[in-house]
Order: sequence, then C-alpha cells, then structure tokens
Amino acid sequence: MTIKVGIPKTLFYYNYYPMIETFFDELGVEVVTSDSTSRKVIDAGVREALADACVPIKVFFGHVQTIKDKVDYLFIPRVVCLNKKTIYCPKFLALSDMIKHSLDGLPEIIDNRIDVRGNHFAVWKTFYHIGKRFSNSKCKIFKAYLKAKGNLSKYQDLVKEGYLPSVAMTILKNNNSKQKMSHNYSLRFAVLGYPYIVYDNYVSVNLLTKLNHLGVETVTLEQLPDTWVNKANTMLPKDMFWTFSDKVLRSSYHFFEHGGVDGIIHLTAFGCGPDSMVDKYMELKSKQYPDIPFMSVTIDEHSGEAGLATRLEAFVDMVKRKKEADVNA
Ligand code: SF4
Repeated sequence: MTIKVGIPKTLFYYNYYPMIETFFDELGVEVVTSDSTSRKVIDAGVREALADACVPIKVFFGHVQTIKDKVDYLFIPRVVCLNKKTIYCPKFLALSDMIKHSLDGLPEIIDNRIDVRGNHFAVWKTFYHIGKRFSNSKCKIFKAYLKAKGNLSKYQDLVKEGYLPSVAMTILKNNNSKQKMSHNYSLRFAVLGYPYIVYDNYVSVNLLTKLNHLGVETVTLEQLPDTWVNKANTMLPKDMFWTFSDKVLRSSYHFFEHGGVDGIIHLTAFGCGPDSMVDKYMELKSKQYPDIPFMSVTIDEHSGEAGLATRLEAFVDMVKRKKEADVNA
C-alpha cells in the first residue's frame, strides 16, 4: 500500500507546494492535500486553536483536521530561516508543537527543522533526513531533491510572470502551454500581504478577483523581482525580524518610492502580532506619498463578502476620480 503524506493547503503551501509534492512523488510517496479553505475548515480550526491565535493559524488547524485521518504522515516542518537574515514568525516555528498538543488522533508528524544560518547545505540535509524515512538510497533522495528544487524554480518564475499560484501549479503539473488572457484594466493596485492570506480565496474574501471585476489589475509581492524587494530600504533602525513581514514592508516601500501603481492595499489578518507593526509603518510611509492612495483591509474569521465589496468599490471609485482629476489638472 502506498504511503500517504498530508500537506495542509495553507501557510507554506503557496510558496513551496510544487517542491514538496515533487520530492515525495519521486520517492513513491502519495501526497494528499486538504481541500480548499471553506466555512467548515475555518469553523473546525476556530474550535480547536487557541482563542487568541491569528486567523491563518486557526485556518491551519482546520486544514489539519480535514486530512489527519486520511494520511500516514503530516508534513509540518519547523522552518526557521531560509535566507540567513530573517526568521519565520514564531507561530510557524511552533506549528507542529501547537498541533501535537491540541489535537488528538494525529498520524506521525514530519517536523524536521530547517535553519540555513551557519549550516551549509541545511535544506538538502533536512530533505535527506526526511527522505530516509521512505528510501534507503541516498542517490534517489538526492535526485528527488534536485528535481523538487528545479520545479520550485519553474513555479516561482510562473508566479513572477503574473500567474496566480493555483494557475501556476496547474501549468507546471500538466506541462501546459502558457496562455494569458489580455484585459483592459484602467487601474493597477499593489495587493500586499502574506501569501496564505492574499492567495487563499476564502480567507481573502476573493479580494484579487473582486478588484479585477472592478477594472483593477493587481500586482503582488511574489511578482516582484527579489532584488527589488531586497534593495528597498525601510530606513528603520533595525530590519524586521520575520521573513514574510520584512518582505511585505520592503515591497510597500518599493511601491511608495518607485510608483508604478495607482494604489496600495495591505491585506492583514486579525490577531497578527507582526502586522501591528508592519501596518503602522506602511501607514506612516503612505503619509509621505499622498499621491499613492493606501488602504488597509483586516480579515477575520467572520469577514463577509458584502462589507469588503463596499469598501473596495469606494476605494476604487476614489482612486479613479483622483486619477481623472490629475489628468484634467
Ligand atoms: S505572520 Fe501574522 S498572520 Fe502569519 S502566522 Fe505569524 S502571526 Fe499569524
């Protein structure tokens, strides 16, 4: 019988799923993902997670519950640092512990630690240790790792070209030719936030699609070249400690300083500690650049379509009028 590994369709899923799936596939392990986020998933997470956890962690709990009985292993690695500079949010680091101590009836959890600081080839070493559970051949594990890395890089290129993660994954999986619809958008907004909020249609209340329907092209942080994000100088006495928060803040500074968009939306989650700072810094920066309208949208587990749609329509309308006024001035 094939061994099954479960991957919750949230958090790292949007950044690394093609790599994880390829690696396990190559070792003959079946990958099972949870279903897309839904009311049922969120309710299940809210019931079991700590009451003061942020929304994405509650969503993660919900996803784990929907697959834990269908798999032999759950893949919840302890990812600490992947760039030698910043670390992941403490909630990411403690994810497997939170799950182990909160839920019953779990399969074995693969929670190997990945920290590249002072540790050459840390990612390969971790994957080797993970792979040893499923294969005795170091060569086979190495080949699986190389193929996984190659697919990750192809996936990242597709996302940079502007494909949403779900579309990029389909193109990659089916080896499809790329076909992009051309649209006539009148505005362009940067939508900045953590990938597990921005790209999860249920959690984000379909914000990207809603903007497209209002005639707005969207650009996300994952579409920016890494060099642009890394070069953006926040001028803060210290960099942000947390990887995703640092990227979101830097990308906002990039757009404020270099333009290229008609507005910026920060999509943030209720209960996110790092975002209480990130959002404030973005708001302060926006005051120096009144020509680029800025709006912050906080999502919680009760966010509804109607409320968000009204706010977006009002914001888009305001930006359109401002643009027209600037043209006629
Ligand atoms: S960065 Fe914020 S939203 Fe993401 S896991 Fe940490 S606390 Fe939650």
